[in-house]
Amino acid sequence: MAAGPLFEKPFDHRTIRLYQYYCSGIIGVRRCCNWLTGWCFPTDQADSLKSMKYSTDVVVIGAGPVGLFSIFELGLQGIRCHVLDSLPAAGGQCIELYPDKPIYDIPAVPVCTGEELIERLLEQSAPFKPEFHFNSEVTGLDRHDDGTFTLHSSAGDSFDCRAVIIAAGGGSFTPVKVRVEGIDQFEDKQMFYRVKDPSIHEGKRVVILGGGDSALDWALELQPRVESMVVINRTERFRAAEANVQKLMELESAGKVGVKLGTIVEYKDTDGLLEQIKITLRDEARTQEWLSLDHLLVFFGMSPKLGAIENWGLDFEKRNITIEPSTFETSIPGIYAIGDINTYVGKKKLILSGFHEAALAAFAIKSKFEPDKKINVQYTTTSSLMQERLGV
Ligand SMILES: Cc1cc2nc3c(=O)[nH]c(=O)nc-3n(C[C@H](O)[C@H](O)[C@H](O)COP(=O)(O)OP(=O)(O)OC[C@H]3O[C@@H](n4cnc5c(N)ncnc54)[C@H](O)[C@@H]3O)c2cc1C
Repeated sequence: MAAGPLFEKPFDHRTIRLYQYYCSGIIGVRRCCNWLTGWCFPTDQADSLKSMKYSTDVVVIGAGPVGLFSIFELGLQGIRCHVLDSLPAAGGQCIELYPDKPIYDIPAVPVCTGEELIERLLEQSAPFKPEFHFNSEVTGLDRHDDGTFTLHSSAGDSFDCRAVIIAAGGGSFTPVKVRVEGIDQFEDKQMFYRVKDPSIHEGKRVVILGGGDSALDWALELQPRVESMVVINRTERFRAAEANVQKLMELESAGKVGVKLGTIVEYKDTDGLLEQIKITLRDEARTQEWLSLDHLLVFFGMSPKLGAIENWGLDFEKRNITIEPSTFETSIPGIYAIGDINTYVGKKKLILSGFHEAALAAFAIKSKFEPDKKINVQYTTTSSLMQERLGV
């Protein structure tokens, strides 16, 4: 069921998308300059420049709905933050698992889709100019004697900060892998779980595994540019937008794409070059077939993994971080956990609970930063300071 528009006046989604790309764009441009430096001066010194070093008040781990709302709450307190997510864009479960599904239990929003909620949250946090770092999984944490932290990301960047908010949900979404022994040796060479640069697949014989939105989006996008394409789905049911399934079937009828129902079971390589994969077809005879290929694109969906956070010495209860419910501080002073990642008596894994937790964590962080000051509640309706910070 599709949800209706959020408000009578349709919301300008493009502005928010542009804003999101703008934020990651700034970081992309900086990184590009560093890469160029490294290319021009291939020395150890240039090598160290490839990684970026940032300094901020708070690092938020996770750009799901709760992480996004914490940007807003921190912003109201006058606190700057950087936000890291292992995914290529904001949204967490709302975007990864149910972008088009209606949500009915967000206060004052009778119905909105997962995607609309994330767009709204991005719009709401925009006045506070958060710096987003996508495709950046938080991998390491250094604790310093003065109570500050340095976080490290899979992109090679490091972030000095005074406090950390973990809003990592069920963990970092990672691609579900192909279960054929030895095939991972081709990852990022001939086998890809994400399309980072579509041009590398041009003119290639491409096989796509999967039948969801990502599989079909990329099949349709790449088909005009590849030498040949076969899409292999496990079942007759494609879990993708109906219009895209229709387009794929039209391409199949026109002989431009092969569509097969089956499962990958084996591969053949020559001198480390993947040449063929064997599939077992979903027919009664369980026929097996070899397919020649240059590139294998795999879209089996994403599954969450807690990863490095598990090894930071935080207290856990059944894979959830325990916190003090008045501040949402974890067992490590200065590190807070909000949203689906935490647990306490009465915890409910709901977006609205995460929003409340984000507000209390922001107040607690403000008190920690300014221990001699009484932090009063100020209404956005009437406080000129809040309105100044919001830029309204
Ligand atoms: C099908 C479905 C329907 C739902 N419907 C509702 C509903 O109607 N109402 C409701 O209230 N709730 C609903 N929920 C639950 C809701 O989506 C979650 O409660 C909410 O997404 C939790 O938000 P979060 O920000 O805590 O975590 P998430 O949304 O899981 O976001 C966490 C983010 O952190 C990132 N991350 C994790 N680890 C790292 C790391 N080490 N480095 C970098 N990034 C990292 C992840 O990539 C992810 O983007 C639904 C859930 C599902 C699956």
